[in-house]
Amino acid sequence: MAEEAKKKRHIVMVPLMAQGHIIPFLALARQIQHTTIATFTITIATTPLNILHLQSALSSTSPNQIRLAELPFNSVQHGLPPNTENTEKLPYTKLVKFCHSTLSLEAPIRSLISRITEEEGQPPICMISDVFLGWVNKVANSLGTRNLTFTTCGAYGTLAYISLWLNLPHKKTHSDQFWVPGFPQSYRFHRTQLHRYLREADGTDDWSQFTIPQISHSMKSDGWICNTAAEIEPLGLHLLSKYLQLPIWAVGPLLPPAVLKGSRHRSGKECGVALEACMEWLDLKDENSVVYISFGSQNTISASQMMALAEGLEKSGRSFIWVVRPPVGFDIEAEFKEEWLPKGFEERMRDTKRGLLVHKWAPQLEILSHKSTGVFLSHCGWNSVLEALSYGVPIIGWPLAAEQTYNVKMLVEEMGVAVELTRFVETTIYGEEVKKVIDIVMEKEGKGKEMKEKAKEIASDMRKAITEKGEEKGSSLRAMDDLVRTILSPKSL
Ligand code: UDP
Repeated sequence: MAEEAKKKRHIVMVPLMAQGHIIPFLALARQIQHTTIATFTITIATTPLNILHLQSALSSTSPNQIRLAELPFNSVQHGLPPNTENTEKLPYTKLVKFCHSTLSLEAPIRSLISRITEEEGQPPICMISDVFLGWVNKVANSLGTRNLTFTTCGAYGTLAYISLWLNLPHKKTHSDQFWVPGFPQSYRFHRTQLHRYLREADGTDDWSQFTIPQISHSMKSDGWICNTAAEIEPLGLHLLSKYLQLPIWAVGPLLPPAVLKGSRHRSGKECGVALEACMEWLDLKDENSVVYISFGSQNTISASQMMALAEGLEKSGRSFIWVVRPPVGFDIEAEFKEEWLPKGFEERMRDTKRGLLVHKWAPQLEILSHKSTGVFLSHCGWNSVLEALSYGVPIIGWPLAAEQTYNVKMLVEEMGVAVELTRFVETTIYGEEVKKVIDIVMEKEGKGKEMKEKAKEIASDMRKAITEKGEEKGSSLRAMDDLVRTILSPKSL
């Protein structure tokens, strides 16, 4: 009977097919399994190629209790290149088509839930869906189960993102600065903080047609799970919960357990450098002396920006690890080309051991946790932000898409742990500016010192949120307990 009851506590999770979403979904699944309150069967439902990566990520965890359910998906039918099942394979211009294509997963999800219901005599106890896949909420409601939305962004960034799309406040004023509903009246956002697609949105364009209904569906779910902690985002969480009028559980930072070393356990992806070689390279460097540069799993910068960044790094005289991806306009899968960088740059950096260029994918968490890493030049995707701050690493922001500019706004204005270098791919930057900003953040005194201290404080707050000392649990662990109890409780109709 006990076994039977356990089997019935089934949670089905549906992430957006993007590394920045699948990684925290997997971390959330592992965290829910870790709870001592109840035992759940967890199924992550996604498309075949993403399942392959997840299988690889899960093969390291034993006993492996997370199930994977394959949702058929044919990218060609949606006008996308063959085998496009993850945003990392796409140029930003095709992203909206990819987002629309995810609506085709509704029928396979319905079949999956019906199959589980038939086999187990009742529907899953809960579905957890991505904020980008709000339609899952409709499915859950119609099939008699609860749906929780998981936003893989921070609370502040999530609120800015949903309110900007739902209210389009920049369309109602000629001013460059405007108030965004949900934020205090004194707060101002700037037109240049909006991605081109949002700036140009009018409610009828392809982006609006996808994003607005997905947010609206998600706002009807039974609650939201946030990958953040009460200690680090008190304002964002307060504002988001007021805006949504739904229960919110801040259960983050959702990072993999320290025992799981290496990128494969998180994403199932192979790195462009062996973990050991990367760690040996870092071991040779002084404490806090290395700049780590990465623009996440799917974004990239323009060819001229890439040149300027390389020049700035060379001028700065600092050591660095740079995850190099093809610049805008090149095939994302393209092999590395020397002409993307100043003449002889890679060779000079290799010979002098000044810079390590990693092609495509790096063991990011291990790099950020190494004591030699002093600063992270990042696009400020939320996972990257959490990973940097959890190791007390201050940030140089270069937001490129999604809610990244709002994350930087918070990192600069609320937390004091970042400096913004530039925004998006359209801007012109110069090597001298890159050097100047790196110097500010790496400074052992003044602003650099202040940012480092604040980043360390945040790291300590994050640790407290996920630490259990005797009877006392950190805020995120308490939120996780409450989340689990809510999942176990009957759904109110
Ligand atoms: N990541 C990584 N190696 C890389 C690039 C990215 O391990 O070379 C991981 C990174 O640690 C993070 C995720 O991919 O967990 C990227 O998520 P984020 O929210 O930062 O950005 P996104 O890719 O969604 O824009």
